[in-house]
Amino acid sequence: MDTDELLAAVRDGDLRLHELEAHGDPDDAAEARRRLLAEDAGSDLETIGAYAFGAADAEPNIENMLGAAQVPMGVVGPIALDGGAIEAEPYLPLATTEGALVASVNRGCAAIRAADGATARVLKNGMTRAPVFRVEDVAAASETAAWVRENVDRLASAAESTTSHGRLRDVTPYVVGDSVFLRFVYDTKDAMGMNMATIATEAACEVVEARTPAELVALSGNLCSDKKPAAINSIEGRGRTVAADVSIPRAVVEDYFGTTPEAIREANTRKNLIGSAKAGSLGFNAHAANTVAAAFLATGQDIAQVVEGSNAITTADVRDGDLYASLTIASLEVGTVGGGTKLPTQREALGVVGVRGGGDPAGSNADALAEVIATAALAGELSLLGALASNHLASAHEELGR
Ligand code: NAP
Repeated sequence: MDTDELLAAVRDGDLRLHELEAHGDPDDAAEARRRLLAEDAGSDLETIGAYAFGAADAEPNIENMLGAAQVPMGVVGPIALDGGAIEAEPYLPLATTEGALVASVNRGCAAIRAADGATARVLKNGMTRAPVFRVEDVAAASETAAWVRENVDRLASAAESTTSHGRLRDVTPYVVGDSVFLRFVYDTKDAMGMNMATIATEAACEVVEARTPAELVALSGNLCSDKKPAAINSIEGRGRTVAADVSIPRAVVEDYFGTTPEAIREANTRKNLIGSAKAGSLGFNAHAANTVAAAFLATGQDIAQVVEGSNAITTADVRDGDLYASLTIASLEVGTVGGGTKLPTQREALGVVGVRGGGDPAGSNADALAEVIATAALAGELSLLGALASNHLASAHEELGR
């Protein structure tokens, strides 16, 4: 069916809005939806329909496609870093609607370059899924937890039978009365890994149910914990735990930020540490989520996982008169294969960083991406702390964001 026929079929009640791809070309289906909504709402959807990729490319990523939400994309860099998985000085595309963000992160990147570069390392890597089981009582819960602790190898065989890349690293039981949670941790290589871990965990759960008194209630029991603020991710990590640090000579701090290492240290202590503690925040940083969100949008990450990407602690100190600063993100969930990374725009952005697709060895591209994002987020921390310390924040937003 062509666009006119698809639209008429919906109007006549013969097809529902989500059934159009089964009867026509995916781009025609999207156009029919736009025309229907435009007619009904009396609004123009021309820009939403002016997308550059084929709707067929986006089919695994979206249902009821209308078009594309086009977010402006800028770039920061080069990002000078000595990484465990990356040695180049890449640029990083950032997609955002917040004026001044790219300029701010870019200023931090320039200061890092002038300081001879940052260092970044992935410290831990493990995507989690935590199903919840029902048991009769705490005795059965204890029996289940003990069996799991003694049979991680058996669970690994079942889990790994579903994937050629994923590896089960560990399973930790948590008991609450007659509920047993098993927090499965996987090395998912270059995939963010949420689908991979879920499918693998389902296979392992069948073994748990066959060998213990536990009955599965839900494949995700929220102790994972996905897309919700959770202390367990801040403490144990989820996805990549990644840290970046830099030593910036006093003269560079003065040149680039118009302030001193002491003023940045004080702003960090009072704002990021004391202020965050008083607020009961999980994130002890200035705005790490800003850089994480913009990088996630640009490179096709799951944007809701910015929640976990904000679990970051910024430190600042003065060493021999120079500024030492670090940012550690406990749970940065990134991939360079799967999910939104397959979309044409996002693949191009990953290509800019030099981490498109699977790495050699597997996992190295996602590690590299995590190191680049952490260093850019550190640059954003430095720039904002510098602006606050020198009282430039409001004027920068006035000049650039309005
Ligand atoms: P995926 O696209 O489902 O799986 C990644 C695929 O890439 C696997 O099939 C894997 O094959 C393959 N692969 C090829 N080369 C690889 C390499 N070098 N390293 C790792 N894998 C490689 O992606 P995912 O990362 O597991 O899941 C991401 C998606 O999950 C996103 O779309 C996200 O929005 C969604 N999501 C799902 C849930 C959920 O609960 N299911 C929750 C949140 C988000 P093998 O497995 O055969 O090795």
